[in-house]
Amino acid sequence: MMERGGNLPLIKQKNVSLIKKAVYRYSPISRTEIAQRLSLTSPTITTSVNPMIAQGLLRELSVPEEGRDTGRTPGRRPVKLEFVPEAHYFCGVDLGPYGISCALTDLMGRMVAASTSAYTDMGSYDSTMEMLVESIPDFIRTAKLPQDKVLGVGVVMPGLIDGTAGKINSTFRNGWGGHFLARDLSEKIGIQVKVDNNVRARIIEADLFDRALLGDPVAYFYVSYGVACHLMINGNVIYGEFAAAGEIGHTVIQQDGPLCTTCGNYGCLEALASEKAVVSQCRASLYYGDRPTVLTEICGDPEKLTIEHVLEAQRRGDETVERILHSCIRYLGAALANVVSLVSPKTVLVDGRIFNVKQNCAQLLDEVKKHTLSTGRETTEFTFLPYDTYRGARGAASIAVKEFFLEDTL
Ligand SMILES: [Zn+2]
Repeated sequence: MMERGGNLPLIKQKNVSLIKKAVYRYSPISRTEIAQRLSLTSPTITTSVNPMIAQGLLRELSVPEEGRDTGRTPGRRPVKLEFVPEAHYFCGVDLGPYGISCALTDLMGRMVAASTSAYTDMGSYDSTMEMLVESIPDFIRTAKLPQDKVLGVGVVMPGLIDGTAGKINSTFRNGWGGHFLARDLSEKIGIQVKVDNNVRARIIEADLFDRALLGDPVAYFYVSYGVACHLMINGNVIYGEFAAAGEIGHTVIQQDGPLCTTCGNYGCLEALASEKAVVSQCRASLYYGDRPTVLTEICGDPEKLTIEHVLEAQRRGDETVERILHSCIRYLGAALANVVSLVSPKTVLVDGRIFNVKQNCAQLLDEVKKHTLSTGRETTEFTFLPYDTYRGARGAASIAVKEFFLEDTL
């Protein structure tokens, strides 16, 4: 416990962080509005804001206020503050199940450079680390930014990732559990590194840069190679014990259902309704089907089948694909309805390639509504995010913004 009046610099640091967050969220914002929002005095705001202006972090804007008669004070307009987007940059790396995406964003989350590559091997921890140590500084140099402008790097991946400790508890790759990736990478590249789960990072990105989307609590339902549903409650992402919260892909949706190769149990949502499950059921239909279909026309080699092929076949009316997706979305809808009933989120964000097809969104909503309490039906808002290859990498950059800029008190 802090003694009353005992540690002024600490209070000042806390105020700096609060002011940064308020400017971040509500900019352009005037000093008076900041003071009102945070219940701080004007001198406190000035002492914190002026050094940030001097450092080139914040700038003043003269913004006409809507609806106010400024005729009585000609020439005088309220001064508002906003961050200088180019003051800092952040690098985000998304180690996804299909490949790696990197994004460089400015202080306001705008992407200034991006790259993506497929994995050349299912790398060990050490070989992936070597690759990152080489490719991250390369990527920053290619964007023609001096490395010292880059305030931090965020790295995300699926699995049980303890963002607070910077540690991988377990992920989709064998032998990665127990490694302190944030520390290991930071020591080698000389830039501070934050690590977290890929979907938790997506919530943080939406919270920082797309605040209009969010109420509270937020559930972020993400269907990819696996399925996850992470939560933000009272502004905090939920980790749970061992950072294992959010793993809805490993909740049982059909007892005695198919084996889940990720966790070893039977009937997990991931085994029944993830992209992996969709593709494997469609692949089986290619092997065992006795007549040509739209899907065989799109992809002749079952071993090369991808979710994009499957969705293209759905768009072109392939009946088998249609039936497989319909059955998968029934499971996804039931699982999401359970989240809605358990958590009662204000906002549900839904993300994933399969929701690029409109009828899949409509079916998911129907299934959810069928299985939730009537109150959840009326109070929860569902938003389908347009699928974006770089959303994960931008999420990774945003965890670095949050950790190394917003939470930082210097
Ligand atoms: Zn499982």
